[in-house]
Amino acid sequence: MDYQSILNEIYDEIQPHLDEGKVADYIPALAKVDKSQFAMTVTLGDGSSYSVGDYEKRFSIQSISKVFTFTLALKIYSKALYHRVGVEPSGNPFNSLVQLEYEFGKPRNPFINAGALVITDSLISHYKDNYNALEAILNFIRDITDDKSICFDAEVAYSEMEHGDRNLSLAYLMKSFNNFENSVEDTVMTYFKHCAVKMNTQELSRSFLYLAFDGKDPISEKEFISQSQTRRINAVMLTCGHYDASGEFAFHVGLPAKSGVGGGIAAVVPGKMSIAVWSPALNRYGNSHAGTIALELFTQKSGVSIF
Ligand code: GLN
Repeated sequence: MDYQSILNEIYDEIQPHLDEGKVADYIPALAKVDKSQFAMTVTLGDGSSYSVGDYEKRFSIQSISKVFTFTLALKIYSKALYHRVGVEPSGNPFNSLVQLEYEFGKPRNPFINAGALVITDSLISHYKDNYNALEAILNFIRDITDDKSICFDAEVAYSEMEHGDRNLSLAYLMKSFNNFENSVEDTVMTYFKHCAVKMNTQELSRSFLYLAFDGKDPISEKEFISQSQTRRINAVMLTCGHYDASGEFAFHVGLPAKSGVGGGIAAVVPGKMSIAVWSPALNRYGNSHAGTIALELFTQKSGVSIF
C-alpha cells in the first residue's frame, strides 16, 4: 500500500477544514497556538514511517498521556485498579462533575479527567512521591518512543494550574468519597505536567506501536505490557477515547484511539500500525476537528479496519 500517497491526498483534502473548529482556550498557553497547522504520521511494525505536514513540530499531547498512565497503572495494580476506576463510557464531557457525585466518587473510565486523576494518584502512591511518579511516567514515555529527549512544557502545566479549579474540584470530590490517597494539589499538578508532555506526530505514532502489537514493541522487542492488558486498553480507547463523541468516532473512524485538547489523536490498527494526527482546532467535544476527518479519510482510503 502506498501510504505516502494516501497521506499526501489527505493533506490536500484537509486544507479547507483547518479553518473550522476552535483551539482550547481554557488553558491560556494553548490558546496562542496557530490553528492552520496539520500533521500526520503512520508507523508500521517494521519501523518504517510516512508523514505529511508539520510532523516535526511538537505539540501538547494533553489527554493522550492518559493512555500511558493507564498502561503503567494497569501493569502495577492489574485488576485491583478497577476498584477505583471503571471501564464504561461516560456519555458526558471529559471534565464533568455531575456523574461523579451520583456514582460515589468512582469515575466511569480512565480517560475522563476524574479517572485519569485517580490513576495519577495511584502512581504517586506506588512511587512514593509525586516527583518519582512523574519521572516514572516520563521515562515510560521515553522508553516506548525510544527517544530520551521527550519532556513536558512547564509553561503549559503551570498555566493550566492557574485555571485548574475544575480538576481540583474533581479530585476533592473523589477525596470526599475516599477515592483519593495523596495531596490534591500535588496530584493535580503532576497530572497537568504529564498532560503537558510535548511530542510530534512522528514520536507519538512511534510511542503507540506497542498497543498495535500486543504490548510488545516490534522494533526494540521490549515487552511493555501483556497481550490481554493491551487488548483491554484498546477496548477502552475504542469505547471511551473520545469522551461523549466516542460512539461517533467509532462509527466514522472505527479504530481504538485517544484524543487530547492540544489537537492530537493517536490511533492503532492492531497487528499493523499506529497513526498520529495533529491539528489544534477542536470540535465541540474537545477532539481535533480536522484530525478526526483526516483519520476517517485514512480508514476509507486505506481500507484498514478492526471490524
Ligand atoms: N489537561 C486537560 C484537562 O485536564 C486534558 C483534557 C483533554 O485533553 N481532553 O482539562
